[in-house]
Amino acid sequence: MTDFAGLELAQPILRAVSDEGYTTPTPIQLQSIPPLLAGRDLLGVAQTGTGKTAAFALPLLHRLAENARKPRSRQPRALILAPTRELAAQIADSLRSYGRHLHIRTGVVFGGTSIRPQIQTLNHGVHVLVATPGRLLDLINQRHLRLDAVETFILDEADRMLDMGFIPDVKRIIAMLPGKRQTLLFSATMPKTVQGLADSLLVDPVRVEVAPTATTVEK
Ligand code: AMP
Repeated sequence: MTDFAGLELAQPILRAVSDEGYTTPTPIQLQSIPPLLAGRDLLGVAQTGTGKTAAFALPLLHRLAENARKPRSRQPRALILAPTRELAAQIADSLRSYGRHLHIRTGVVFGGTSIRPQIQTLNHGVHVLVATPGRLLDLINQRHLRLDAVETFILDEADRMLDMGFIPDVKRIIAMLPGKRQTLLFSATMPKTVQGLADSLLVDPVRVEVAPTATTVEK
C-alpha cells in the first residue's frame, strides 16, 4: 500500500499530514496528487467525505512553497471557489492546517458578513484565496482584488454552484483569470452544464472518479 511518503510531497507537508493523524492516502488522494504535482488539470468526480480537500490542497501547497515569495497585496496566486460560506471556511481551515509548517497565507471571503475585514486581509496579501462567487465579484468590482496573478484555479462542488444559480458568476470570474494556469474542477455529479463547463475550462485533464465512502452514503 502506498503511504503519503511515497507521494513526493515536501517534508513540512508530510509532517502536517502526520500531525492530522492521516496514515494512508484515500483513493482520490492517491490518484490526484501525482498528476497535480506535475501541473496537470484535473476533473474530480467526488463527493465531500472522500478526502478531496487534501487531494487538491496538498499539491497546491507544495507547488506554492516550491517557488515561495511573500504574498502580494490584492493578488492571490491561487483561487478556490466554493458554493457556500461553510464550505469556503472549511477549505480555508484545512489549508491552514496542512500548511502549518509552511509560510503560505490563506484568506477566505464570503457574503453575508462585513466586507471590511476581508478587504484588510486582501490588502495585507494572501497566497491562496478561498471565496464564494458573489462576494468575490463585489471585491473585484470595488478594486480590492485582481486575478491576474492566479496560477491555480479550483472550482469545488460545481454541481452545487449550478443548483444555486452561480454559474453566470463563475463564468464572469473565469473570464478574468490568466490563460496560463492549472485548473481543477470537482463535482459530485456531472450534469450536462457542468460537463460543458469542464470541457471549456480544462486542458487535457486527468479524470479521477471515486465512489462515495460508506460514511458519505449513510449521510
Ligand atoms: P473531505 O472529503 O475533504 O471533506 O474530507 C473528509 C474527512 O476526511 C475530513 O475530516 C478529513 O480530515 C479526513 N481525511 C482526509 N484525508 C484523510 C486521510 N488520508 N486519512 C484520514 N482522514 C482523512
